[in-house]
Amino acid sequence: MTRGAGIVYLVGAGPGDPGLLTRRAAELLERADVVAYDRLVHPEVLKLALRAELVDVGKKPGESGSGQPRINELILGRAREGKTVVRLKGGDPFVFGRGGEEAQACVEAGVPFEVVPGVTSAIAGPAYAGIPLTHRAHASWVAIATGHEDPTKESSSLDWDALARAPTAVFLMGVQRLNEIASHLIDAGRAPETPVAVVSWGTWPRQRVVRGVLGSLDAIGEIEPPAILVVGDVTALPELDWFSRRPLAGKRVFVTRTRAQAGALSGRLRELGAEALEFPAIRVAPPETFAPVDDAIRSITAYAWCLFTSANGVDAFWERLAQAGGDSRVFGSTRVAAVGPATAAALRGRGIVADLVPPEFNSEALVASLGSPESSRDVLVVQPADASGEIAGRLTAQGWRPNWVATYRTEIDDSSVGAGRQALDEGVDAVLFTSGSTVRSFVQLWGSPPAGSVVCVIGPRTAEAAEAAGVKVDAVAAEQTIDALVDALVRTYH
Ligand code: SAH
Repeated sequence: MTRGAGIVYLVGAGPGDPGLLTRRAAELLERADVVAYDRLVHPEVLKLALRAELVDVGKKPGESGSGQPRINELILGRAREGKTVVRLKGGDPFVFGRGGEEAQACVEAGVPFEVVPGVTSAIAGPAYAGIPLTHRAHASWVAIATGHEDPTKESSSLDWDALARAPTAVFLMGVQRLNEIASHLIDAGRAPETPVAVVSWGTWPRQRVVRGVLGSLDAIGEIEPPAILVVGDVTALPELDWFSRRPLAGKRVFVTRTRAQAGALSGRLRELGAEALEFPAIRVAPPETFAPVDDAIRSITAYAWCLFTSANGVDAFWERLAQAGGDSRVFGSTRVAAVGPATAAALRGRGIVADLVPPEFNSEALVASLGSPESSRDVLVVQPADASGEIAGRLTAQGWRPNWVATYRTEIDDSSVGAGRQALDEGVDAVLFTSGSTVRSFVQLWGSPPAGSVVCVIGPRTAEAAEAAGVKVDAVAAEQTIDALVDALVRTYH
């Protein structure tokens, strides 16, 4: 192989849930020059491709496979230019994915290739539906077949006798032909009362499982592809259905945070079974001027306390500090307080263990915990530019001399207005707000949350901001943390 020669990686993207991606796939996506992906790859997976040219080579349902030569041409062409090409395929590349054909095309073209297996929908779909493909009491082997045969073939290329004997049979690409599959199996001797399950959108938040019996598959109704059919006794263990029992199963939750912060909230929502629709409504921008921050940094040791009211504030403060050539040592004996655990965690990331985190995570508790001044009365408050004067007021009332500086401001982020509109029109079950500015920006970008959706806010201030913006609040988090916000949402359903 010549130096700088290109290579094609045939990579499995898994069935949908981004958590099922292999580490090897993630690593290759991060360093790929080109990613040619299928239609059913989760957007979160594509986000891992930090520097790649992204090419959608997916077929729409019903489209024939005529795009294959074009795909081959693309991946081989780019590899010949010396590029690292990831051919990202749904599920596993070598299970009904034409991965074999693409590998052959590489061999013919003399282009090196490697295969990275993925979690196939044939196994993950049943797993997420609580269907064990084998079970000591029910099935000691399993057959995986395509339900979509070449229509130009005169007779079936499937061995229906063998499939009818398989204790568990899984059919991919068969949603349009459920009845034909059933009659083939019954003709070959499979009992009409054999339990079956159809899993559509397996491992995605919108996963749906319909159970029935082989003899009356037509009663199963409309199934949205992609879907697999599972035939066998193992489908009759509904008590193993863990997926739809998760507290937020199938809920579409609209999340408004800054792009940089949405991850933690969305991650928690997804863990509980929700579909997190991440559309930032605000972004963090520099304040009009940094002069007061720079002055405060220079004289920081004159303050008895420095209070941080958000993780954003911490990040922006340290950025400014670094620009001035300083580091965490500037604080000297000045003590540091954080309004809550997220802010404290941001401080820890800078090597500072907060001297104070109030028992309740709001400004009232923060100021109350400070007590009254002993020697120096000066307190520095690091806040966003649009914060209210509330903390300063409370500090003054308690005998302190506050100076507040803005290290950042939030402004409306309209980069996702179209995509957000579409998600809202498709229907959302809940909208979460983590600050007053997210409420105001949401209303400006998209109007009121859709009727029937549950609105949850992170704390009383955000609730007030919502009411002021004409948004009815259904639940307020018990404390100002992501976990409490998600708990509040869960409680509205249970
Ligand atoms: N290589 C893929 C299969 C590609 S063929 C894999 O290993 O999963 C496409 C078929 O896969 C679809 O027709 C459907 O039957 C099945 N499929 C893909 N993703 C699915 C999902 N999330 N849930 C259910 N079936 C899925």
